[in-house]
Amino acid sequence: MPKFVYDFTEGSKELKDLLGGKGANLAEMTRLGLPVPPGFTITTEACRHYLSNGSPPEDLDAQIDTHLAALERAMGKRLGQPDDPLLVSVRSGAKHSMPGMMETVLNIGLNEESVAGLAAQSGDERFAWDSYRRLIQMFGRTVLGLDGDLFEEAVEAAKSSRGVVEDTGLGVDALKGLVGEFKDAVAEHTGHPFPDDPREQMRRAIRAVFDSWTAPRAVLYRRQERIPGDLGTAVNVCAMVFGNLGPDSGTGVAFTRDPATGAQGVYGDYLANAQGEDVVAGIRNTMPLADLETLAPDCYRSLLDIMERLENHYRDLCDIEFTIERGTLWMLQTRVGKRTAAAAFRIANQLLDQQVITLEEAADRVNGDQLAQLMFPRFTEDPDVPRDLLGRGMNASPGAAVGRAVFDSYTAVKWSRSGEDVILVRRETNPDDLDGMIAARGILTSRGGKTSHAAVVARGMGKTCVCGAEDLDVDTKNRRFTAPGGEIVEEGEVISVDGTTGEVFRGSVPVVSSPVVRYFEGEIDPASDQADDLVRAVHRIMNYVDAARRMYVRANADTAEDAARARRMGAQGIGLCRTEHMFLGSRRELVEALILAHTDGERADALDALLPLQCADFVEILAAMDGLPVTVRLLDPPLHEFLPDITELSVRVAVAEARGESVENDLRLLQAVHRLHEQNPMLGLRGVRLGLVVPGLFTMQVRAIAQAAAERRRAGGHPRPEVMIPLVGTVQELEIIRDESLAVLREVSEEYGVELDFPVGTMIELPRAALTAGPLAEHAEFFSFGTNDLTQTVWGFSRDDVEASFFSAYLEKGVFGASPFETLDIDGVGRLVQIAATEGRARRPDIKLGVCGEHGGDPASVHFFHDAGLDYVSCSPFRVPVARLEAGRAARRAT
Ligand code: ADP
Ligand code: MG
Ligand code: MG
Repeated sequence: MPKFVYDFTEGSKELKDLLGGKGANLAEMTRLGLPVPPGFTITTEACRHYLSNGSPPEDLDAQIDTHLAALERAMGKRLGQPDDPLLVSVRSGAKHSMPGMMETVLNIGLNEESVAGLAAQSGDERFAWDSYRRLIQMFGRTVLGLDGDLFEEAVEAAKSSRGVVEDTGLGVDALKGLVGEFKDAVAEHTGHPFPDDPREQMRRAIRAVFDSWTAPRAVLYRRQERIPGDLGTAVNVCAMVFGNLGPDSGTGVAFTRDPATGAQGVYGDYLANAQGEDVVAGIRNTMPLADLETLAPDCYRSLLDIMERLENHYRDLCDIEFTIERGTLWMLQTRVGKRTAAAAFRIANQLLDQQVITLEEAADRVNGDQLAQLMFPRFTEDPDVPRDLLGRGMNASPGAAVGRAVFDSYTAVKWSRSGEDVILVRRETNPDDLDGMIAARGILTSRGGKTSHAAVVARGMGKTCVCGAEDLDVDTKNRRFTAPGGEIVEEGEVISVDGTTGEVFRGSVPVVSSPVVRYFEGEIDPASDQADDLVRAVHRIMNYVDAARRMYVRANADTAEDAARARRMGAQGIGLCRTEHMFLGSRRELVEALILAHTDGERADALDALLPLQCADFVEILAAMDGLPVTVRLLDPPLHEFLPDITELSVRVAVAEARGESVENDLRLLQAVHRLHEQNPMLGLRGVRLGLVVPGLFTMQVRAIAQAAAERRRAGGHPRPEVMIPLVGTVQELEIIRDESLAVLREVSEEYGVELDFPVGTMIELPRAALTAGPLAEHAEFFSFGTNDLTQTVWGFSRDDVEASFFSAYLEKGVFGASPFETLDIDGVGRLVQIAATEGRARRPDIKLGVCGEHGGDPASVHFFHDAGLDYVSCSPFRVPVARLEAGRAARRAT
C-alpha cells in the first residue's frame, strides 16, 4: 500500500504535487521549526484513487488512524475527548490554489459533551459555544450542502433581537440557542441529526474535500485555467488553535512586502478575538498589522522575525495566515504571494540588490503580461487633481478612457462620428452593440465577469473596459446610471473609466503616459533622477533578457512613423509592412482605374501612376529602419475593398439615370463591383491570387521596393527590404510570382547600376501551405507565419464574425481557455507551425522563420515560437518590449 498520509514533519515545499500547496508549505514551515500546530496531510494520490474508484483507498482510514493517534499523543488529548477535546480543522489544498473548492471546516471534534469539556478547560463557556456553533455552521454549509444564508440569517436575527451589532456581542445563552436552531435546521434539511461522533465528523469532512474537486465551479475554473482535471486535491488535518479566546487572542494575515507596490515594511490586517475567516469575511473592521506592536509586542516581534525568515527561505514575497492564542503565535499558512505588476518588478529588483536572487531568477519573477500592464496610459496620480469615484467593477481590459456617457450603440456611433469621445455604458453588451463598442473610447457594464461579451470583445479590440460594476445602477431607458451614493450620471456627462483598476470616476481625469513607456521611448534616462525605482527595475531586467534571448524581435509597422517608434521600443526590423493603406485615400481612384482597365495600355497607365507613390512610401520606411530588415507584404485584401459600396453606387446610378445624366462610368464601376462581389471575401480573391490575375500589380510593387532600395543605397543608406508573398497555398503560385519578382530586381539593378539582392519569401497562413512547406521552401528564402489568418483558416471561422457572436459563450463554458486570437492554439495551429518549420528547414537549412501575427506579442505564444525554433517574432510596436522580455525568459527556461 502506498503512503497516503504524511505528517507535517515528513513533507517539504518540493512535494506540492503530492501534498498540495498548503500542505507542502505547512510541512516546510514545520521543518523550519516555526510554530505550526501539528497535523498531517492526506495526499492527492488518495484523492485520485477516490475519484476514479468512487471510494477511498482501503488502507486510508487505518493510515489516518495511525497519524491521528500520533497527533493525539503529541497534544496529550484525544479527538473530541469529553473533558478536554482535541479539535482539528480539515482543510482543502490542491497544487494550484483554486476558488470554487471546498472551504475549511474548523473545530471538528465538538459535540454536546466535548463542548462542556472545552468550556471547562478554557475557562470560557462563551468561547466553547461560539466554536460549536461555528462547527455546525461550516459543516452544515460545506459538508452537508445547506444554504449558508440559513445560518447567517439566524445569526443576524439573534443579534438584532439582543440589540448587538457584532458577533462577539452574543453571549452564552444566545450561542446555545443558535446551536439548537442550527441542529434543527440540519435535521430538517438532511433527515439526519448532526453527526456527534468526532471521527465520523472528520471522515465526512475529508470525503467532502475530495468531492469538492468535482464541484461545478471547480471544474469550470480548471477548464478555463487549463489545470488538468485529474490532479486531485490534498486534505490537511491540523490541530486547532484559537483566536477567539478573548482580547489577547486573534487572527490575521500578513505580507512580507506590500503586494501593491512592493515596498518593504509591515503589511497586513489583524482582528482580535476572532477565528478563521472572520478577517477576510469583513464581519468586523480589522486593524492594521502594525498596531499589533502595541497590542501584543512579543507576538509582533516574533511575527516579524518569522516573516523575515520565510522571505529569506522562499527568496520571495510571502503571504501568511497566523493566529494568536492567549499570547502565543501560531503559523497557519504561507505561500509565495500574488502581487501587482509594479510590485513584481520592484520586488525582483530589490531581491537582486539584496543578492537574494540572480538576474536570471529576477527575469523569471516577472512576465510580459505584467510589463504590458505597466505600459498602458493611466490616470494621473497627482494628489492635487480631484477625483470623484462613482464606483468600481472588474478591470476587464486595461487602459484609461475619458468620454461622454452614452447608453446605446446608436448614440455611441452618432456622437463619435461628430467627433465626440464617448463611453458606452450598458447593463451588459451583446453582438448588437458591436458598432457602439468600436465607436467608443471605453466600455462600462454593470453586469458580467471577465468572460462576458463586453470583456471579451473589448480585449480583442484592445479597448478599455470595466465590466460587472454591480454597484452602478444602469438605466438604459432613461439614459442614466446611479452610483451607490445616489449620484446620477445622465447621458452626455463626462466620465473616466480605468480598465487597469476597474474604477469609474465622474468628470475627466487627466491621462498621462506611463513612465515605463516614456523610458522605452527614450524620454527617461534610466540612469538619471527622472527614473523612479520601477523604471530602473524594468531597465535592469530588459538589459538582461535582451542579452539572453535567441529570437529577434521585429515590429509590424506600415509607416515611417510607426517604424521609428518601433525602433525606439527596441524592434530589430519590420516583420510585416502592409501595403494596403498605400492604396487608399486619394490613391483610391488610381486603383479604381486599374481595376476598370480594359486594355493593357490603360492598365499600364494606372500602374505607372501608382509606382512613384509606392516608391516614395518605401523610401521613408527603409530610411526609418536603415540597416535593419523590412519585410514588405505585397497587396493582400480583396479588390472590392477599394471599390465603392455596392448599395451606395446602385443608388447613385439610379438617381443619375432618373435625372437623365450620363452614367457610363458609374455603370462600368457597378458592373465591376458586382463582378468582384464575394460571399466570403476572407476566402476569396486576395493575396497571391490577386497578384496572379491582375497582371502587373505585384511586379509594380516589387519595382517600387527595388527602386526605393536603390535610391536609399545612392543616398548612402543600408536598405534591407524583403519581399513577402501573402496567402500562398501551393508552390506554383509562389514560383510564378517569385520568378517575376527576381526579374524585376535584375532590371532595376541594371537601371540603377547598384546590386540589389534581397530575399523573397512567403507567408504561411493556410493549412495547405504549412503542410507543403518542404516544396515551398525551395522557392522561399523565408517563411513568415501569419498566425491570424492561419488561426481563422484552421478553425474555419472569421474573427470579425465570431468574436462578437459566440466567443464569450465559449470562454464561459471553458471550451477555450483563452481566445485563439489572443493566445496561439498550440495543439492545432501550433502543430502546423511546427510541421512547416521542421519541413521548411529540412529542405532549406538556412531558411529564416518568423511570425507576423498578433501572437508575436503574446507571452505564452512567444514561448511556443521559441521552442519551435523560429528566428524572430514580429508584433505591434507597443508590444515589442513584451516580446523582448518573453523571448529572453523563454531562452533562459530552455537552458
Ligand atoms: P483557505 O485556503 O481558504 O485560506 P484555510 O484552510 O487556510 O482556507 O482556512 C481558512 C481559515 O481557517 C484561515 O483563516 C485559517 O487561518 C483558519 N484555520 C485553518 N486551520 C486552522 C487551525 N487549525 N486553527 C485555527 N485556524 C485555522
Ligand atoms: Mg488560508
Ligand atoms: Mg493574412
